Order: sequence, then C-alpha cells, then structure tokens
Amino acid sequence: MKKILIVGAGFSGAVIANTLAKTGKYSIDVIDERNHIGGNCHTERDPETNVMVHQYGPHIFHTSNEKVWQYVNSFGVFRPFVNRVKSIYMGQVYSLPINLHTINQFYGKAFGPEEAKNWIKSKGDSSIDDPKTFEDQAKKFVGEELYKAFFYGYTKKQWGTEPRNLPASILKRLPVRFNYDDNYYNDIYQGIPEEGYSAIIQKMLDHPNIKIQLEKRFLGESDQSSEYDHIFYTGPIDAYFSFRHGRLGYRTVYFKEHRTEGDFQGNPVINYADEKVPYTRVHEHKHFTPWESHPKTIYFEEYSKETDENDIPYYPKRLDEDMKILKAYELEVSRLSNVTFLGRLATYRYLDMHHIIEEALDCAEKFINKQS
Ligand code: UDP
Repeated sequence: MKKILIVGAGFSGAVIANTLAKTGKYSIDVIDERNHIGGNCHTERDPETNVMVHQYGPHIFHTSNEKVWQYVNSFGVFRPFVNRVKSIYMGQVYSLPINLHTINQFYGKAFGPEEAKNWIKSKGDSSIDDPKTFEDQAKKFVGEELYKAFFYGYTKKQWGTEPRNLPASILKRLPVRFNYDDNYYNDIYQGIPEEGYSAIIQKMLDHPNIKIQLEKRFLGESDQSSEYDHIFYTGPIDAYFSFRHGRLGYRTVYFKEHRTEGDFQGNPVINYADEKVPYTRVHEHKHFTPWESHPKTIYFEEYSKETDENDIPYYPKRLDEDMKILKAYELEVSRLSNVTFLGRLATYRYLDMHHIIEEALDCAEKFINKQS
C-alpha cells in the first residue's frame, strides 16, 4: 500500500482521504494542528444551550453541482435551509442581497421589476466599462447610493482597506435581483447538515485505512516527506515554505459571544452596514437549525482584523503585493512532484465549501488514475 500524508482535516483533506481510502490501495495519515477535525467548518453543540454552533462562523452549504450535492448527502442528512440575510443601515432593517424590496424601501418607492431596473440603471455609472475593482463594480451596477449604504462601510470593516483596492470578484459573489427573491444564493441546492459539519467530515474519515492525529503540527517542507509516497497539503502555502518569500495577507475574524433567553434577533445572520458599528454582523446559531427548538440562545458579534502570526487565516486578501508573493510560492510548488497543494489556504483563493469539495474530488480522482 502507498503511504499518504494529508495535512489538514478540513473538507479538502477529508475528501482526499475518503476518495483514496475507498480504493483500498492507500494507507493514509491525516494530521491537524487543532484539537478537532473539520477545519473552519467545525461545528459543536454548546453545552449550556445545546445549540449547534458553527465555531468559526456561519457555514451554509450551497451548490449547483449535482455530483457535489449527492456526494455530501452520502455522509449525512442535509436539511433544507435558505439563507435570508438582513442588513441594518442607519437604523433601518433591509433585505439582502439587494432585491426589489431593498430598492423600494431604500428609495421609498413601489417600483415593479422593469421600473426598478431602469431606476438602478440610471443610478449606475455608465462611464465604467470593464470594472476591475470592488468599488467600480458596485458603482456601475447598483450606483453610488446603494454602494455607500450596503457595501462601502461593511467592506471597509471586513477587509480593512478601501473597496477601490479590492477586486471586483468579491462583490460578484452577491446577486442583485429585480424581484422579491431574498435567497442569498443563486445555487440549485442549499442546506445545512442535521448534525453539523464535523459529523459529515468524521464520516468521510471513518475508514480502517485512515488514521487521524490531532494536535499535530506540520513543520514545513522537509517534515516527514521521506516517509510518504505523496503529501496532500491544505495548510497556508506561505507557511509550507517557512515564509521565505514573505507573508501573504489574510483577514481573520473573531467573535464576542452572548447568551440570552428566547430569540435574540429572529434571523440567523444580520449584517451591520454602518461603518461606525465596530462589528460586521451578528449570527444567532439556533436559527441555522430551524428544525430544532431551544429555550435559550447563543449569538456572536463578528469582528474582522488583520491576521497576526498566531491568528487563524480566513479570507485571502489577494492585493497586488500578495499576488507577487504568491507567484514566487507557486513557482516553488510547480517544482514539487510528490506534494499536492489544495484548498483555500494552500492555493490562497476565496473558495466556498462546495468549490473545495469539487476540486478535492477532482484532484483525488486524477491522482488515482495517474497511479493506476
Ligand atoms: N458585503 C458587503 N455588505 C454586506 C455583505 C457583503 O459589502 O452586507 C461584501 C463584503 O465585501 C464581503 C463580500 O461582499 O466580503 C462577499 O460577501 P459574502 O456574504 O459572500 O461573504 P462571506 O459570507 O464569505 O463572509
């Protein structure tokens, strides 16, 4: 049997481990420096309230890829869940993503879809041809007023920089709709696992050929490489090379926890668009499992900041200076034949869970085919 090391027990690592193990041809060690599996998707029941808490912030599974949806559903029950987000701006509650309700409320109108389209078109900056930045993307497609209200303050808090420094791709994640559909995502499938994400990932890793070691740190490029036929690395790409070309920029988030009786905000996620409110959003986790009932509640204010050495990296910033550093690391990666880099941190991309799973399935299948 070929010996495989997988660094990181998040979705990337678990999908690789699971796919390889099922062939019966590999003996797989999975290591993770944390004391739990699941990476940033880790979920755990809070002992006091019994609410399933998304320990590293809200994770709602959505995909339009049938294969990915079938795959995740083979490890546990996903309950239907539609993410409906609200945003508070200057003392009023609006519906996100920007939809007909948001537009009508914001402008005090009762437009139909066509009128709203024309109105927003007249607000958009038509002199911007090919928007490259977050700011230009917003100004072109929703206009200055909606941009300032819903995106400018939130994005400055979230990313710690002016939105003109950020790529348009960040804003392209969010739809703008001229109807009353307030589903945050456009995907065909959406849901939340009944028993949380860690139970799904545990099931992926449940195989006699997979051994998991927690609280085990990978020490960089020379670590254990001679013991294994192949390594799948899902940690930060710059850490693998001991930061020798510099550190890549990430934003991290941290949470202030609160508890109370009953229902605190009546919705899973409420964003705070005003720049002067120090947090970006508040998440109340019992609303991620509307099929459960809990008399008490736990909720978190989410704050964003630069990532220091000991912080967990969350969002790759991908500013110009980061992309130069990334190129130097990617060149080194291209020279390695027995290490595969995958996932959000190892490829330094803003990927969702469904992207991660799709790429990991593809990567594992290619690896297996190459070997046989
Ligand atoms: N965003 C914003 N206002 C909001 C929500 C999102 O300006 O109320 C911007 C922000 O820059 C964010 C990006 O849109 O980083 C993508 O939002 P998404 O909800 O996809 O972020 P995630 O859930 O990954 O944190």
